[in-house]
Amino acid sequence: CSIIGYRGDGPAAPVIVSGLKRMEYRGYDSVGVATQTGSGISLKKGVGRVAEVNQSAGLDGMPGTIGIGHTRWATHGQVTDANAHPHACNSGAVAVVHNGTIENFEELKKGLSAAGYSFTSETDTEVIANQLQKNYSAEEGAESALLKTLPELRGRYAFVAMFEDGTMVAARLHEPLIVGVGEDSYFLSSDVLGFIERTDDAIYIDNGCFVVVDEKGMRISRFDGTPVRPQITKVSKEI
Ligand code: GLU
Repeated sequence: CSIIGYRGDGPAAPVIVSGLKRMEYRGYDSVGVATQTGSGISLKKGVGRVAEVNQSAGLDGMPGTIGIGHTRWATHGQVTDANAHPHACNSGAVAVVHNGTIENFEELKKGLSAAGYSFTSETDTEVIANQLQKNYSAEEGAESALLKTLPELRGRYAFVAMFEDGTMVAARLHEPLIVGVGEDSYFLSSDVLGFIERTDDAIYIDNGCFVVVDEKGMRISRFDGTPVRPQITKVSKEI
């Protein structure tokens, strides 16, 4: 339902948790956060309100300056801790938060299962994480894995994927995706409320475009790889 990604120079988890709280009006059944800790990806999630799960799981105390978060409105699979986002791939090197639905997830799941992948949830989202892992090579990197994965997905989605090396990628097809541009930080969110507390500089991502945020900065491209020039809009803080 709501997605958020953050890469900056301060702790990511508190920024993500407060962004999720601001987006609560959208409605949801479960919540989760994943951060890049330097030695891998740490992931916590569960059924309930942001404040409840934060209290029981300590979401906002998770270490790292790069992270993703999600509040779920279940479309595929029951409301359970296992089905809450983020979803990690089998190796644990990629974690994904997703708003929307992947129509061909059963077909993709069959292909991945035949290739030896296993699944821990009933969601359509988990195939995105594993498809990214399958298409990833250390030489070609995260962006190349995304470029191979996008044409394989059918449906409507905005998702953020965080890789173990700290690269975040986000893609948009028929669901909203907005970049928040802060001082030395970037936000990737389904709603300006995800970052309005921290910055009012926003870039509304067009349908069929993706974003890469890494140590070099932020860049936007079309699904075919053509670069897009970012256009910053000032968002009103009168909310
Ligand atoms: N289809 C996904 C699920 O059921 C995402 C739902 C959402 O947009 O929150 O887990």
